[in-house]
Parts: sequence; structure tokens; C-alpha cells
Amino acid sequence: MPLDRFGRNINYLRISVIDHCNFRCVYCMPLDTSQYVPSSMLLSAEEIERVVMAAADVGFEKIRLTGGEPTLRADLVDIVERIARIDGIKDISMTTNGVLLPRLAKPLADGGLDRVNLHIDSLDPQRFAKVMRFGTLSEAWAGLEAAESAGLTPIKINAVVVRDHNEEDVVELARLTLGKPWTVRFIELMPLGDNDCARLAKDKFVSSADSMKRVEEALGTLTPIDNQDASDEAVNYRLPKGEGVVGFISPVSDPYCGTCNRMRLTADGRFHLCLLNDDEMDVRAALRGDDGDARVREILLNAVKAKPTGHRLHEGISTAERSMFQIGG
Ligand code: SAM
Ligand code: SF4
Repeated sequence: MPLDRFGRNINYLRISVIDHCNFRCVYCMPLDTSQYVPSSMLLSAEEIERVVMAAADVGFEKIRLTGGEPTLRADLVDIVERIARIDGIKDISMTTNGVLLPRLAKPLADGGLDRVNLHIDSLDPQRFAKVMRFGTLSEAWAGLEAAESAGLTPIKINAVVVRDHNEEDVVELARLTLGKPWTVRFIELMPLGDNDCARLAKDKFVSSADSMKRVEEALGTLTPIDNQDASDEAVNYRLPKGEGVVGFISPVSDPYCGTCNRMRLTADGRFHLCLLNDDEMDVRAALRGDDGDARVREILLNAVKAKPTGHRLHEGISTAERSMFQIGG
């Protein structure tokens, strides 16, 4: 098992397959974004497969595909099929805004994708448009239904809570768990990069405690779920008579760095050691050089060893060189 210097078992690799997106969420991607990783620098499906083989060799078991918007990657089904064939990988998931799932959910499930997290910040069409800016709620909802029909379950919904945008929507989103076995998770805003999104993330922050209070006032007491998975970044609850789960992810007000089990791979082939930190290690050169896959494994293990103990948001320090859409959340 790949243990880091602090004894954390790092067995979960989040792979950003692309930095393009068909949305422009207010806290993630500036409206005028025009600089993307050139296609020659994007890892190919075969290179991603080699990184995952190296990761499985050293004990990684869980893979998540993310972006940007991963469904914009034309060879996404091929990527999933390649990963699904690798011994030792027990779970393949994807984080997506869902709008392309009506076309892709079935081929992805057939290819070996296990489940998806759908990003839906509001159930109100106008507020959805205010936060996510491109795309519509009905398109995202069609994606959720397609995922469920294709068996990409259990369905998890992620919502980022933004003051003056969607903070009241936590109630209707949490209400979904009364009638469905879904997990709805509310995420605190994080400032990443040096742009309008990072400034908004600082100005419009809503704590999980505030979101929880709002949900409880409307829907009743949230009861903590027993035996929570220590590596789950969310603290999970159930509403009275709830079928599903309501989770709160609180990287700012209650950091979970002590149980972090992730490594991240950027679309241009760099291990990003901590979401909220700029440290990275290049693996693309090794993939394209003559050193072979032993070198890829060595870089991955070095990246695990160099993983910082935790983030320093409380000191006003965050990732400066990359925005969220360039890392993948
Ligand atoms: N496009 C996909 C999506 O939106 O799910 C995958 C990539 S997106 C960067 C991954 C997750 O990051 C999203 O689900 C969103 O909830 C989260 N996210 C993006 N920017 C964020 C921010 N500034 N603070 C907190 N979460 C953020
Ligand atoms: Fe796109 Fe996801 Fe970022 Fe929204 S959060 S802009 S959907 S990458």
C-alpha cells in the first residue's frame, strides 16, 4: 500500500482527462477562459492507461475521472475500457455536469464505469443558470436520469453553495433524499487560482454549519450516519425518514487533510500533490521518454512521499497557478 510520510494510505487517483468545459460555473472557470492545454500535451488514452497500471502496481485501487468536463473527451469510453481491464482497480467513478450523459451513460457503463457524481447546484432553472452559467437544469437532469437508467449508481449529487446565488437551494436539494436513495453533498467554496472565480469564492463563502442549519430548519434534524468511511471527505447524515444521504464537505471550516487518500493527475500529465497547493511532479516526460514504466512508478511513489500534510487556506495560501477546472476538484 502506498503510505505517505504521515502514514496516510494514498490509494485513490483522480485523473483530469481534459481542461475544457461546456459550463462556466462562477467559482470554477472564468467566462473568458481561452487558454487550454494544447492537444499535444494532453495525456493520450494509452498514456493514462500506463499511469493507472503503475498506480495499480503500487496499490492504488480507486480511480475517478474528472476535468474540466470529462465527457468532452472524444475517447472517454476508450479510456474507461482501458482502466477497467487493469488488475487491482476496484472502483471507477466520474465527476460530471451530466449534460452529455444521455448519449454517453450506457457506453460508459458498458465500458466499465461504476458510478457518477453529478454536479447540480440548484433545482431552480434561473438560479442554476446564475451559478453554472452555461447549460440548463433540464439538460443536467436528463443526464442524471440517463446515469440512473444505465446503472451508474449509487447516484451522488454535488452542489457548491454560493452566497447570493444558491444558498437557499440546499433545502430542495436535500429534500431529494427523502424519496430517492441518492447522496446529496454540499461543498464549501474554495478559492483556487488568481482570477474572478477565486475572488468570488472568498466573498461568497457559506459554511457547512450554515447550510446544515438551513436544511434542519426546513426538513428536520439530521442524524449522523454510523460507521462513516474515514476516507470519505463528506460528513454524512440522514433526514427523518430519509432514504438517501445528506453530506457536507467542509475543506475550509473543517479540513479533512488528516484522512486524505488522494493523488491527482492533471490533464497535461503532472501529479498535483494537494488540491490547495501548487506542488506538482511531471510524469508526461517519463511516459514519452525511454525510461519505461518503472520510472512512472518511481515518480508516483515520490509524489506520494512528497504529499504535504495539509492545506494552508487558514494562512491565506492556496493554489495560485491552477484553477479548479485545471485540476479536477
Ligand atoms: N465538470 C465536472 C463537474 O463539474 O462535476 C468535473 C470537474 S469540476 C472541477 C469537479 C467538482 O469541483 C465539481 O463537482 C464542483 O462541485 C467542484 N468545484 C469546482 N470549483 C470549486 C470551488 N471553487 N470550490 C469548491 N468546489 C468546486
Ligand atoms: Fe465546468 Fe465542472 Fe468547473 Fe463547472 S465545476 S465550470 S462544470 S469544470
